[in-house]
Amino acid sequence: MSAENIYKGSCFCGAVEFDVTGDPIVMGYCHCESCRHWSAGPVNAFSLWAPDAIEITKGEDNILTYNKTEMSYRKSCKTCGGHIYTDHKPMQLIDVYPAVLVGLTFEPTMHVHYQETVLHMSDGLPKFKDLPEQAGGSGELIEE
Ligand SMILES: [Zn+2]
Ligand SMILES: [Zn+2]
Repeated sequence: MSAENIYKGSCFCGAVEFDVTGDPIVMGYCHCESCRHWSAGPVNAFSLWAPDAIEITKGEDNILTYNKTEMSYRKSCKTCGGHIYTDHKPMQLIDVYPAVLVGLTFEPTMHVHYQETVLHMSDGLPKFKDLPEQAGGSGELIEE
């Protein structure tokens, strides 16, 4: 077996700690209204992993799970409200916010839900109107 990367992460206060093992399947930016509202930011960076890539190493019972839709079970810390990850159960993927992982080089390759953007970004990366076809979207691209 080759050595796998292990990235350590924690919530804002440190009550919850976790390891994420391997490499992300894809990284990018989501511009959807839900991510903006949840993250309280104009755009949300994502890194998608297999569901078993994450292991909670401290404070598992301190995690709050909230799902507004069946698509996204959003996990945060009960103490500080810091975001941890989102379980996209139907897609069998989890989104660990790159900003909470130590040592992960954020290498975005796409923007998704760009039709909902409030912050245009001119970086030459593909801008999907909703999602790529492999992720159940239209695959349509929008000009920068
Ligand atoms: Zn916390
Ligand atoms: Zn989103």
